[in-house]
Amino acid sequence: MLFIEWLQLVELTGFAPAERAAITAVHSDKYVATLEKLSAISADCGETRIVESAPTYLTGTTSRDASRAAGAVIALVDNVVAASRQREAEAAASSGSSSGSSSTPAGFAICRPPGHHSLPSGAMGFCIFGNVSIAARYAQRQHGLQRVLIFDWDVHHGNGTQDVFESDPDVLFISTHQANAYPGTGKAAEVGVGDGEGATINVPLPGGSGHEAILAAWEVVVEPAARRFKPDIILVSAGYDAHWADPLAGLQFCSATYHALGARVKALADELCGGRLVFLLEGGYDLDALGQSVANTFLGVLGEAPSDAFDRKLLGEEPLEKVQQVLLEAQRIHGL
Ligand SMILES: [Zn+2]
Repeated sequence: MLFIEWLQLVELTGFAPAERAAITAVHSDKYVATLEKLSAISADCGETRIVESAPTYLTGTTSRDASRAAGAVIALVDNVVAASRQREAEAAASSGSSSGSSSTPAGFAICRPPGHHSLPSGAMGFCIFGNVSIAARYAQRQHGLQRVLIFDWDVHHGNGTQDVFESDPDVLFISTHQANAYPGTGKAAEVGVGDGEGATINVPLPGGSGHEAILAAWEVVVEPAARRFKPDIILVSAGYDAHWADPLAGLQFCSATYHALGARVKALADELCGGRLVFLLEGGYDLDALGQSVANTFLGVLGEAPSDAFDRKLLGEEPLEKVQQVLLEAQRIHGL
């Protein structure tokens, strides 16, 4: 778990697992209790069992590991909020003089298991607890940050996160993902329900989409929707399986793409919500690409040059006409 200070990385250790109340703000008591019980049985027998068809595995430490993953994100929310309030107090004390004020550090939880497929009532798609959903509810209830923007750039649709917040107008969920990939949800027409209508934005990108496509999506959908929403904090479900080298899907991001996204989301958090920004790891299954891409996200957030001069021309051509149609559709549906 990392706390990204200006030009330095600070590792936070010694954080607590998420409290049960924070987890049950998102998941049913029955699911959490069953998971604890199955984990205890697996620990006794030394067994690994499959709890869901993705397949999602459960071992003797799964309940503890999942609570620690959610706890890492919560600890970063606490630290980022404290740092932003300290800076606001310093700015007020210097009576509006902005000289010398520094940007609020961002947080990045390098946590496993991931969370964005996990449902209120069960595990799904390698995910046990919805880390980003738990952190969003925690930010609202513990810190009074009512309006939460969740941006999910994993190659798969964050169906679990969408399920949790689809009727909540105070959580804007924006997901960019590969169209028709697992789990099959995330159509543009899924916009939220009831009071939450319009607070779910899905951008299903065609296979082969890469650097140009996601930056166009950022420019014409993500950024204007975020500005209109005016969040109090931004949480990023940062999956890295849209990388061209990833074995699970068919998009063509590269490590420089994540550098560009990191820089953009940091600038947006500074502009809209006092720099309150927490990333957390979702998918990413090519370990070299994962490491390079996470590192480049940090460099983007820090305002440093990308470390990898990967030549995008080596990749296949992006289906930019199809991408444009998808983006026009999202603009039309959401009035952007
Ligand atoms: Zn994924």
